[in-house]
Amino acid sequence: MDPIRIAVVGVGKIARDQHLPAIAGNQAFSLAATVSPHDPGVDGVPHARTLDELIESGPAVDAVALCTPPQVRYDLAVQALKKGMHVFLEKPPGATLSEVAALSSRAERVGATLFAAWHSRFAAGVAPARAWLAERRVQSVSIVWREDVHVWHPGQAWIWEPGGLGVFDPGINALSILTHILPRPVFLTGATLEIPSNRAAPIAADIQFRDTGGAAIHMDLDWRQTGPQSWDIVVETDAGTLKLSNGGAVLTLPSGVQHSEDLEYPGLYARFASLIRTGRSDVDAAPLRLVADAFLRGHRKVVAEFHD
Ligand code: NAP
Repeated sequence: MDPIRIAVVGVGKIARDQHLPAIAGNQAFSLAATVSPHDPGVDGVPHARTLDELIESGPAVDAVALCTPPQVRYDLAVQALKKGMHVFLEKPPGATLSEVAALSSRAERVGATLFAAWHSRFAAGVAPARAWLAERRVQSVSIVWREDVHVWHPGQAWIWEPGGLGVFDPGINALSILTHILPRPVFLTGATLEIPSNRAAPIAADIQFRDTGGAAIHMDLDWRQTGPQSWDIVVETDAGTLKLSNGGAVLTLPSGVQHSEDLEYPGLYARFASLIRTGRSDVDAAPLRLVADAFLRGHRKVVAEFHD
């Protein structure tokens, strides 16, 4: 079978750190082109400054991976779908829920694959955590996602703009795990968003959710963490405590600790190839819906200015 010719659109941090190596390591794909306004691309691979330029001048591609900031994702996805290309959407799949729904309908109409990728769902501990929880009664959940924005997002102006999500940019990874591992649906009951006076997006948030079985879920997001960083989810159940740490990579059950190899992006590309080969899409907006609900229902508290 011929490899799927893919273009990586938006050559920034995540494209270079994860997408390019994952594509190189998967024989189902061949990297046909890169697209980025300022980045020069990869030696020996055709490069265009815009998706328009790629579509006009080639080379031909079957699929695009959209690794840009979320605010420009919708227009790029529409351009690609109009040409019948399959589309991989980095997380979050869009800047609004309604644009993601519109893309989903469009992909269905044109018969192309649309994949809303949630990389944290492919972290090593997540699938076994989901399987273990399927048999248990969840009593409560605590999420602590605290990191230093200066270390992880230096100079990323888009992340502080409307649609950039602020601290929910990493926080949505926790929500992608939560909505995947809990056996029951989750909804938001309250939130406080701390927003720097010179920015549009929160630097910290304290959020309460419940599942439909009544379990209380608390989430603590903070971008002002220095020293040790935390990406932990602790679930109390009728059969003891489950802990996912390191962003889902390490699973601790009452029976002991499970470490496995990190295969998040290889896992995402294996899934994308399988969706394309079988003519399916996978668009789960549940994590983005919870973030939208925090903006809809949360109190806003203005805090000190943030400077890079
Ligand atoms: P980034 O380093 O700022 O890179 C984004 C790139 O998108 C920029 O380099 C820019 O290219 C390009 N771009 C902007 N507008 C474009 C357009 N209209 N067409 C083509 N390219 C365009 O951001 P990032 O950290 O890689 O994050 C990108 C997305 O991946 C975000 O949604 C983020 O949530 C997600 N993500 C990031 C990480 C991470 O660890 N950083 C992890 C997982 C997921 P030029 O430089 O050429 O202008």
